Amino acid sequence: MHAAPSLRRVAVLGATGSIGASALDVIARHPDRFRATVLAAGSQVQALLALCRTHQPDHAVIADAALYPALRDGLQQAGLATQAHAGAQALDALAASDACDTVIAAIVGAAGLSSTLAAAAAGKRILLANKESLVLAGELLMRTAQRAGAEILPIDSEHSAIFQCLRSRDASLDGAGVRRILLTASGGPFRGRTRAELAQVTPAQAVAHPKWSMGPKISVDSATLMNKGLEVIEAHHLFGIPGQRIEVLVHPQSLVHSLVEFVDGSTLAQMGLPDMRTTLAVGLAWPQRVEAGVAGLDLLAQGRLDFEAPDTDAFPCLALAWQAMAAGGTAPAILNAANEVAVSAFLQQRVSFLAIPALVANALATLPAEPADTLAVLLDADARARRLTQTAIESA
Ligand code: NAD
Ligand code: MG
Repeated sequence: MHAAPSLRRVAVLGATGSIGASALDVIARHPDRFRATVLAAGSQVQALLALCRTHQPDHAVIADAALYPALRDGLQQAGLATQAHAGAQALDALAASDACDTVIAAIVGAAGLSSTLAAAAAGKRILLANKESLVLAGELLMRTAQRAGAEILPIDSEHSAIFQCLRSRDASLDGAGVRRILLTASGGPFRGRTRAELAQVTPAQAVAHPKWSMGPKISVDSATLMNKGLEVIEAHHLFGIPGQRIEVLVHPQSLVHSLVEFVDGSTLAQMGLPDMRTTLAVGLAWPQRVEAGVAGLDLLAQGRLDFEAPDTDAFPCLALAWQAMAAGGTAPAILNAANEVAVSAFLQQRVSFLAIPALVANALATLPAEPADTLAVLLDADARARRLTQTAIESA
């Protein structure tokens, strides 16, 4: 006889996004175990209202405060008891409140840092999809979580794979027994292209990822390989492994999600179809396993698994991320902020694809890395890198 699992009350921050949709799909499959009690979005108020009608949360938050009346009136018209909130402060307060015990941090970009930190300081179980918060303030976030007893479960297919592989050993000895981590990368939509061939690619081509369906920002990051660079920094903070022991391996089939090599020569990999619902189910139910709506892996049907080295000449963003991680301090915050501004300009067709690494390199070369002991220093570096990159775009 097993005791029934207690009901997990989940705040989904970034509910209207790609990860939000996958999370709510898994949650809705297990009404006895999970309930979405808080749903939050940036500015898509109609999409948020539609989710409220389906999931009936206790609270709904729209970050854009100007949309508060639309949210409040929409909830009332739908006859829902869901309370309406607006603004970043309300978001942080709810992430830290008794309204939830688990927070899915699935806001895109540095905009997700504040609520992630609030959830960490409140000791929540955090399902962390918002990798930018780790790149920007990794040490601070990990320290805050550790002090408050917050548990961080990665919602990134690679890091979930590493997390699962690492659990095969005595995890109380941090990092012990691990020789290296091999982070797999699909290579994105432009794998195999030369630098010259990348000059004319369009946003529509860049967001058409061959294996994963994701939001626009991370899709462009996958096309430049910046996503893999951010993930190396993410892995470094999550698992306390020095950067030199993290390697990147291109694996176009996206079935092996990452590997961990141990000192005894044993390598463990985690495999599965590329569907984030598996990753979210691991995080929601851990250490138990629950149905996620994802089929198993048919290796006979898949046929083969290929591996190759990343091309850092055609995709310099990966090297820039290594460089920022090695420089430390505020350098990863500068890298991340410049990248967010550059990707946004590329999506608006204001700069070319190759301008993305050029703008990030420019920010790293212009702004010196400083020690990053406080959140204020990191946010200042983030703001300066955004201004610098914006100016570089406007004066180009
Ligand atoms: P998305 O663009 O589909 O969704 C982003 C969500 O964030 C939306 O709900 C949006 O309303 C919300 N948002 C944006 N700005 C906000 C703000 N200022 N305040 C509050 N909410 C705001 O993005 P996504 O693909 O779901 O990615 C979300 C995060 O998860 C990113 O950090 C990404 O790197 C990470 N991630 C995504 C995937 C994936 O498969 N999509 C995989 C691994 C990691
Ligand atoms: Mg990933």
